Amino acid sequence: MSATTIRRIRATPVTVPLEAPLRHSNGAHWGRFVRTVVEVETADGYVGLGEMGGGGEDATRAFAALEGYLSGHDVFALEAMRLKICNPTASLYNNRTQLHAALEFACLDIIGRKLGVPVCDLLGGRLNDRVAFASYLFFRYADPQTGRGEVRTAEQLVAHARELKAKHGFGSHKLKGGVFPPAHELECYRALAQALPGEGLRYDPNGALSFDDAVHFGRAIEDLRNDYYEDPVYGIAPMKALRDFVRIPLATNTIVVNFEQLAANAMSRAVDVILLDTTFWGGIRPCIKAAGVCETLGMQVAVHSSGELGIQLATMLHLGAVLPNLGYAADAHYHHLADDVIAGGPMRYEGGTIRVPDGPGLGVELDRDRLARYHELFRELGGYPYDRDPGRPGWFAHVPNRAWADPDDARIPPLRR
Ligand SMILES: [Mg+2]
Repeated sequence: MSATTIRRIRATPVTVPLEAPLRHSNGAHWGRFVRTVVEVETADGYVGLGEMGGGGEDATRAFAALEGYLSGHDVFALEAMRLKICNPTASLYNNRTQLHAALEFACLDIIGRKLGVPVCDLLGGRLNDRVAFASYLFFRYADPQTGRGEVRTAEQLVAHARELKAKHGFGSHKLKGGVFPPAHELECYRALAQALPGEGLRYDPNGALSFDDAVHFGRAIEDLRNDYYEDPVYGIAPMKALRDFVRIPLATNTIVVNFEQLAANAMSRAVDVILLDTTFWGGIRPCIKAAGVCETLGMQVAVHSSGELGIQLATMLHLGAVLPNLGYAADAHYHHLADDVIAGGPMRYEGGTIRVPDGPGLGVELDRDRLARYHELFRELGGYPYDRDPGRPGWFAHVPNRAWADPDDARIPPLRR
C-alpha cells in the first residue's frame, strides 16, 4: 500500500440551523440543513474533507458501503475513482454521482495539502481571487421559536433583500419561486426590481410553472434587468419551445446536470446559461470540463448552490476561481445559515463576494467542537423531508404545479416531523 492510498472514509451527519425555514417549489428546508461531512484518510495520515447533502437525510451508510470499493485506492487517481464508482451503466442500478463528488472534494483536498497548494492551483490556477454571489431570496416561514423571519408578502421580500444587501453587499438578487400563485410572485419580483434599480435579477421557480404561466410571467418581466430566467418549465424540449415567446436568457441547474444532457442542449440550444453544481455534476472537475464545453459553444456558466456548509462552499469558490466563462454572480444558501462546522466560523462576504481560500487543499479545517455539537443536533432532530411542506400536510408537488400555497396564510407550522 503506497502512502497516498485511502485507508479510511469517515462520514458524520450534522444538522446546522437556518435563520428561518426556506420554502421552495417542492416543499421546504425545515429550519435546518442536514449535511454529511466526509473525511477521507490516507495511509500516511493525511485527511481530506468532503460534504454531501441528500434532501434532508443522512448519507452515512452510503459512504460506509464505499469503503470496500476505495480502500487502497490512490487519491491522485481521480479518473480511475470516477470509473470505479460512477460507471455509467452500473449507475443505472447504483447512482453514486453525489457520493463521488464528496470523495473527489476530499481527494483534491488531500492532494492540495500534500503539495502545499490550494485546490484551484491544481485545476488550472485562479483567474479570480474572489467570487461574487447573489442574495438568493426565499419565501420563508417564520421561525416557530422566535416568530421572526417570515417572507411571504412583497413588502417583507423587499425588506429582506435590503437587509441582506446592507449586511453582505449583494448586487444581484435571485428569487426562489414556485411557491405561491404566479401573479403573487410576479408582484414580488417586480417590487424587488423597483426597490433595487439597475441590479441583476433572476427568478427560479424550479420548473413548477405551466407553459402558459411561464410565457406570461416571462413576458411580464422582459423590461427588467434580468440576468436570466431559471428553469421556468421542466424539460429540454419545453425550455426550447419557450424561447419562441420570451426574450430573456434561459438558465438551468435542473435539466443539464450531466454530459449527456449537455450534448443534447448543445444540439438544440434550449438553455443559454448552465449553472454548475459541484455536487450534482459529481465533483469540481466535471464542472470544469462542462464549463470548457460551454466556453467552446459560446455559453456562459454560473455556480449553483444545492445547500452548503463551508466545505462545499470552498469547492464552489475554487470552481469559481478557475472559470474563464463565469458570467454571473454565484448562488449560495450560505447566508441563511446560523453557523458552520469550519474553524473560525462562517466565511464572510465582503461587497457581495467571498475570497477564494488561500490555504493548501480546500483551505478549510473542521472545528471539532462545532462538528460534535451539530452531530448531536442531528441525533436529536433526525432528518427532514425536503420535498414536503410543513405547512401543507398531504400536499406534494405536481410538474407543473397546480396547487400553490396561499399568500394570505400567515400560520407558522411546527417543524418536527
Ligand atoms: Mg435553480
